[in-house]
Amino acid sequence: MTDQTDVLIVGGGPAGLTAAIYTARAALTVVVLEGEPSSTSDQPGGQLMLTTDVENYPGFPNGVTGPQLITDLREQATKFGARLVPGKAARVKLDRSPFHVEVSGDAGAFSARSVIVATGSRTRMLGLPREQDLIGRGVSTCATCDGFFFRGHDIAVVGGGDSALEEALFLSRFARSVTIIHRRDELRASKILQARAEREPKITVRWNSVLDEFVGNDRLEGVRLRDTTTGSHDVLPVTGLFLAIGHLPNTAVFDGQLELDDLGYLVTRRGSATTVPGVFACGDVQDPVYRQAITSAGSGCMAALDAERWLEELAHDLVPASELAEPAASTSGSV
Ligand code: NAP
Repeated sequence: MTDQTDVLIVGGGPAGLTAAIYTARAALTVVVLEGEPSSTSDQPGGQLMLTTDVENYPGFPNGVTGPQLITDLREQATKFGARLVPGKAARVKLDRSPFHVEVSGDAGAFSARSVIVATGSRTRMLGLPREQDLIGRGVSTCATCDGFFFRGHDIAVVGGGDSALEEALFLSRFARSVTIIHRRDELRASKILQARAEREPKITVRWNSVLDEFVGNDRLEGVRLRDTTTGSHDVLPVTGLFLAIGHLPNTAVFDGQLELDDLGYLVTRRGSATTVPGVFACGDVQDPVYRQAITSAGSGCMAALDAERWLEELAHDLVPASELAEPAASTSGSV
């Protein structure tokens, strides 16, 4: 079955839902393909579903939980008529007009005059047993989000890139000590961040060390480290552990159809425009740097306004023919 819509938004995090609020409120037909719930949540919503308290989203002086923020954004989007559909984009065809997106499972397909990609990114994880269970119980993937809760704690950060050093520096404002655990004897991070970390007395580096076990039952109490040069083990007693070993943008389904950068992020130009006219991107899928709920929401608003303008120009034949994809062979009606 193929349904038609003006705007198909792929992704149900703060970027996608904000884009839905704006486009639906502009009286466009809007479908949000909102993904699937993760192993630890009962509704889709991206990384915010894994976040406990969000204290830096403007407008919430008493903070808000990640899942509550998603629930409210969903309610706001549906209030204006956006249709939320569970499922992921399994196959996309962006070389034809209207665009065609098939949904995972047997959830059908959509034919859309414009597409907004808001599939986000996921934190690269170590893949160790109990890692997922301890998220929110001492293990975190975002210092900006969770650092405040670790005031006075001994903390470790895994990684040796810019993110790891930025997180360590940020965490040193709250923590009693910050240990960077790095698998090599040399940091990948920029020299300026290295110099700043060296000047911070709370920060030390455990070189040539890999984490091979989480210690603690309900909450993190320490991490077992293996020295890669000697093979010896010891336990570092920490009550907070921040993973900063990179992010993986969720772009696999668009590979070959939209331009990706070297890290796999979608390339956007002129606001939220991708390399295919009529296809826009917002949120973490196109942002390797800021990665905040509020920046995602802001870019979701930009993508919505860009899509509205595109559809307006399309309706008035203002889009140059060279920018239009070939019409699909058969796209009429809902099947
Ligand atoms: P990154 O540069 O890819 O660094 C990831 C780090 O994690 C590396 O040190 C890597 O070790 C380590 N690592 C990867 N997999 C691991 C594993 N399984 N176990 C242990 N360690 C592992 O990622 P990033 O720091 O998130 O930065 C991503 C991009 O954003 C970069 O281009 C970065 O420059 C940019 N960024 C910039 C800023 C800034 O300019 N302020 C801030 C944040 C990010 P190896 O070194 O051994 O490979």
